[in-house]
Amino acid sequence: LQTPFLSLPLQAKMSRPVQARRLEGIDKNIWVEFVKLAATYSKVNLGQGFPDFPAPEFLQEALKRALGGGNHMLHQYTRAFGHPPLVTALAQLFEKVLGRELDPMTNVMVTVGAYQALFCCFQAFVDEGDEVIIIEPFFDCYEPMVKMAGGTPVFVPLRPKAPKDGKLMSSADWQLDPAELASKFSERTKAIVLNSPNNPLGKVFSRGELELIAELCVEHDVLCVSDEVYEWLVYDRRELTRIASLPGMWDRTVIIGSAGKTFSATGWKVGWTVGPDRLLRHVRTVHQNSVYHCATIAQEAVAQGFQRELTLFGKPESYFVQLPRALQQKRDLLIQSLVDVGMKPIVPEGTYFLVADISEFKSDVPEVPNSDEPYDYRFTKWMMKNKGLAAIPLSAFYSEAHKNNYTNFIRFCFAKEESTLKAANDILQKWKKEKTSS
Ligand code: PMP
Repeated sequence: LQTPFLSLPLQAKMSRPVQARRLEGIDKNIWVEFVKLAATYSKVNLGQGFPDFPAPEFLQEALKRALGGGNHMLHQYTRAFGHPPLVTALAQLFEKVLGRELDPMTNVMVTVGAYQALFCCFQAFVDEGDEVIIIEPFFDCYEPMVKMAGGTPVFVPLRPKAPKDGKLMSSADWQLDPAELASKFSERTKAIVLNSPNNPLGKVFSRGELELIAELCVEHDVLCVSDEVYEWLVYDRRELTRIASLPGMWDRTVIIGSAGKTFSATGWKVGWTVGPDRLLRHVRTVHQNSVYHCATIAQEAVAQGFQRELTLFGKPESYFVQLPRALQQKRDLLIQSLVDVGMKPIVPEGTYFLVADISEFKSDVPEVPNSDEPYDYRFTKWMMKNKGLAAIPLSAFYSEAHKNNYTNFIRFCFAKEESTLKAANDILQKWKKEKTSS
């Protein structure tokens, strides 16, 4: 006997829309295309942001101990909002940097990378119709995450001012226009996303700039999602000012961090949020009902990494001192190689990225007929295919409305082995020779 169900054709056509409305317009992603192109064409990849050197020995040892050290419970679930040793170590560290007492159980929550911390914040705070201010250029996931939460991103660009003395530009020369920033705040503004040190520019916001943002947040009763994943990567003896430490800001700020950046282990995907319970309780609700928790064993190893750092805090042996020192040298090496070939790097004050001006190369890069692809995209693809060097176009870090104003720059990542940076330098020196001989 045939049931009515079995008599249906095998491929009954679905006519209803499959995609949820919240995904409209956010299904394109630069990384998919550029990661593939880099893998196909480049000999040296300074595009995607991750170190190609090993995570520190002490962290690797901690993971080995966690894995086989006899505590088999480290293979099981742990506390949903963060493995107790990790939230305890994070609370101790942030007590030092913020100068306030913290409760590890209510002021800290562990996430699956900073990525999930961001996602939880937007889901927890943003309603349909809320506006969220995003400073451009920005880490590209902020925009789709705000949209998925039903919010409207409102963009405000850092505006470059070329130094008069003919010196290389610094990321500090990219600044907010105070009046323009103020004009973006309204009664619809729910939050602002701050990313200092900033990916992709490497800008470390000055105390004055943060005070301006803080005053506007307090005046308009706005929350601050402060993405501080590059908190230890600050150069030239600069100090990072934490917006949460400014008057009126603790109560309205969630700090986001990442063990991936802190301990050069991006694949572990351990991140965290730090903030007042009145905010974190809602972030916990999203986390509890989506991801639940991050791998116990990775949290245990990161906790041990932090315990080591707490005992060495401020000392020369601290990884938080050694890593930026090593990266600053790598930064300076890459800057010199880029200057040699005729690019104009913008010296980053922090992060492991640097942005370079490529406007000198317009005549080298062929136009693509019938294409409105921006110059920085065309240049990056041309460089990958013809020189074997991968980078990322800067306009990918801008909103659709503003990206055409910033097409003369590309981003490099310099968290790379000396041999990788040397290979990049070889490419750039060969390129320089070809230029001078043509
Ligand atoms: N924020 C910024 C500014 C980043 O650059 C990144 C990673 N590139 C993240 C968040 C995500 O960090 P995680 O790998 O810990 O998820």
